[in-house]
Parts: sequence; structure tokens; C-alpha cells
Amino acid sequence: MGQVGLFWFTNDLRIDNNAALNRAAREVDKLICFASVPPAGNALAINQPGQLSANRMQFLLESLEDLNHSLGAYDQHLIVSNDSSINAIAQLITQHNISQVYGTGITGVYESRQWQIMTKRYPMIGFHQVGDNRIFDPASLPFQTENLPDSFSKFRRIVENLEIKPTVPKPNFLPPSPAQPQPWPAQLQQFQRSTTALFAGGETAASAHLHNYFRSGLASTYKQTRNGLDGMDYSTKFSPWLANGCLSPGQIIGDLRQYEQQVESNDSTYWIYFELLWREYFQYYADKHTARLFAFSGISKRRPTTSFYPQRFKKWCAGSTPYPIVNACMKQLNSTGYMSNRGRQLVASCLVHELGLDWRYGAAYMEQQLIDYDMASNWGNWQYLAGVGADPRGHRQFNLAKQTQTYDPDGLFIERWQGNNADSTLDYTDAADWPVASQ
Ligand SMILES: Cc1cc2nc3c(=O)[nH]c(=O)nc-3n(C[C@H](O)[C@H](O)[C@H](O)COP(=O)(O)OP(=O)(O)OC[C@H]3O[C@@H](n4cnc5c(N)ncnc54)[C@H](O)[C@@H]3O)c2cc1C
Repeated sequence: MGQVGLFWFTNDLRIDNNAALNRAAREVDKLICFASVPPAGNALAINQPGQLSANRMQFLLESLEDLNHSLGAYDQHLIVSNDSSINAIAQLITQHNISQVYGTGITGVYESRQWQIMTKRYPMIGFHQVGDNRIFDPASLPFQTENLPDSFSKFRRIVENLEIKPTVPKPNFLPPSPAQPQPWPAQLQQFQRSTTALFAGGETAASAHLHNYFRSGLASTYKQTRNGLDGMDYSTKFSPWLANGCLSPGQIIGDLRQYEQQVESNDSTYWIYFELLWREYFQYYADKHTARLFAFSGISKRRPTTSFYPQRFKKWCAGSTPYPIVNACMKQLNSTGYMSNRGRQLVASCLVHELGLDWRYGAAYMEQQLIDYDMASNWGNWQYLAGVGADPRGHRQFNLAKQTQTYDPDGLFIERWQGNNADSTLDYTDAADWPVASQ
């Protein structure tokens, strides 16, 4: 009997430009394609611990369905479990005598730990992590992870002219699966879908969006429009697909370079690359700082001054603070699973400065809600805004009134998302100054 392999899909839910899948296709005779989703309300296996919002779950489910559909063209199918990845893979190893396991390199100390546990538990099995979802080949970087520059600007100057990693084509062929298709977990089958989602998950939708974005000409004005708050056109909207690996940064940069050659190369097209470099920076930042990404003092020695105000946090999450712009952004997030970059900066600044809360609550809430949740970008940006991360200035408070005037001068965004429809009191106290519930 030949070699049986297992391909463990995580945040690489695509067939094109998937170096690990190509390698598995070449090396084994039979192949099981596997992914796990978090059990409802329990540990999250694909990315991070936590609970997924309905928006995030829908995007993930659609991405898995699309992948399964594309695998069908290779006479393959996706096995999906909502047991922990480790338990589910252990069962498949025993049932199918698997000798090789493949996956794409994944960022994150806890995500990598799962892979390490498997490698230790099964020393007789070959474990292969091939490629990653980054722009550059780590081997081509002129520094080791531990010497990552402490600011984005220094990093950018070092890397921006390096060659990007070449993309790899879709495999011509995939080995057949030794396992029969299985029904997907009931939690997925019974999932109540929203019909008003902003984004459709999956590689097919990602490729269509990539194509349409560059065909639309919007790339030529990105730098002027990128700070918008609402709508599909002011920024690229690549992030949900990037975060789930339905699209890789290399594919985006390939199309960007083509646009620059065939249509126009200007400040705006450069700025799309510049922003993708921010994403890249945070991936290395997560490699370097491992669990400190989740520490209250971040990578600094300073512990922010905060207190525990559960009511304030609840108000922030629900979009019912005394700050209309923040409320509008939070309601947009709760309703769609997406928020603009400008909005994320404002709500994070408000949580840290106006509300005096521990920044990690905000980061954890976004982890639950964002359909583009990316461990490194989310926690890295939050640290930056909380003044405990890679910001050389160390402290950044946005003036919410001024920001509202600049970015929502006519109040249309606030009106659309009912940001004014809120309680203008932040804290309720009794006569002796003890906190009490609002009613
Ligand atoms: C508090 C906070 C939390 C964030 N959490 C996430 C997250 O979980 N996932 C995520 O992908 N981005 C996160 N970002 C970064 C940024 O807000 C989003 O990447 C961006 O809004 C996504 O929309 P877009 O694709 O239209 O971005 P565009 O403006 O079109 O940018 C193009 C791409 O560049 C990258 N990018 C842009 N800005 C940043 C940035 N500041 N940091 C890292 N990468 C960037 C993204 O991959 C994005 O898709 C966060 C920012 C803040 C301030």
C-alpha cells in the first residue's frame, strides 16, 4: 500500500497558490483533505480561542463550502470536524494509516502549538509545514525574527524592494481520498445564514473581487479614499479573504504590479503595497513576541492605567457610549462583521482613553466579531493603539469630535448606523458613588 497523506487546512482555504497542497499532491498516493471548525460556543480550532460571531461563522462556512466544491473538480472532498483538530486528526491517523501530514505555515504561538503537539505525539509520521501566507520568503529577509526592527518604518525601508515570493499554480491533480465523504457537523448544516452579508466567503468570491477591484480603477485613488468609514469602494476590502487564506498577499501584489504596468502606477498603488507591508510586519511581530502579544503591558515595560468597568465595556460593545461616531462604528461591526481601518482606530482609542478599559477586552471582542480577524494584525494594532506596542510615539489618542468633523462632516455615517441613538451617560452611581445599573 502507498503513502497516505492528510492535508490540514487552517487559514489557507484555497487551492491556487497553495505550495503545501502542491507538495502533498506530488508526494502521497492517497490524500485526506481536512479542516476543523470550532464547536459552538467553545474553543476555536482554526485560529484562536474564543467564540465566533454569526458573521464570522458564515464567512468561514462559505469558505469551506467553496473549497469543498473546488476539491470536487479533483474528485476530492473536504472532511470537516467540530471536534478539536488534534482529536479529529488522531482518529483519521488511526483509521487510515496516515504517514504524512501537510499544512501551510501558520502565525501564532497557540496555533503553532497544536502542530507541535501532533509532531511530538506521532514521531513516526512526517509533518510538513510548507510556505505561509506572507509576502516574502523568510529566508530572503536580511534579519532573523528576534532582530525584527522595533518600528514599522525601519522594517519597511529594509524590505520594500526585496523580491516577493513567487506564486505557485493550482495542482494539476490531487491523489484520491481513502475516506468516504462524511456529513458536516450539525452545527454547520443547521447554521442560520444571513441573506444580507456584505462579503461572500471562499476562494471563488476572492478571485472575482480581486479581478473586479483592479478592473474598477479604484486602485488609482486608494490613498485619497482609504480613510472612509462606509461603503465598498473606499478601500480594497481584501482583508476577509486574506485572513481566511482564500487569497494570498502574493496574488494581490501580482495583480497590483500588472495594474501598475498596464494602467497606472502612482502614490495610491504604492500605498496598497505599503498597507500590505503593515500586515507583513505584524506577522513577524507575532513570531518575535509570541505570547507577549496578549500581555497587558504588551512588548513594553509599562502597564497602562485602567480599571474594570463592566458596564462601560458592555456599552462599548453594543454601541451605546456617549460618543456617536464610536457607536456607529460598533453597530456597523456588530451588524456586518467589518469596520473600516479609521473606525477601528477610533473605537480602540475610545476604549483605551475615554473609557479607561483594558485594551485586551477590545481586542478579544474584535477577535469574535471581525470576519477579517487576523491574530497578528488584530493584537498588533491593538497594542500599537494602547501604547504598549510598536508605536515609537507610544501614546495615540484620537480627538473623537475632530475626527467626526473630518470623516463624517454631514453626520451621514452616524445617522445610517444610529450612533446618536444611545445613552449619553457613561456611568451611573448611587448617592454614595457606588456604580449601579442604568435602570
Ligand atoms: C484596532 C485594530 C484592529 C485590527 N484588526 C485587524 C484584523 O483582525 N485583521 C486585519 O486584517 N486587519 C486588522 N486591522 C487593520 C485594518 O484595519 C484592516 O486590515 C483593514 O481595515 C481591512 O480593510 P481593507 O482590506 O479594505 O484594507 P485596505 O485599506 O484596503 O488595506 C489593504 C490591506 O492591507 C492590510 N492592512 C491595511 N491596514 C493594516 C493595518 N493597520 N495593519 C495590518 N494590516 C493592514 C490588510 O491586509 C488590508 O486588506 C486592525 C486595525 C486596527 C486599528
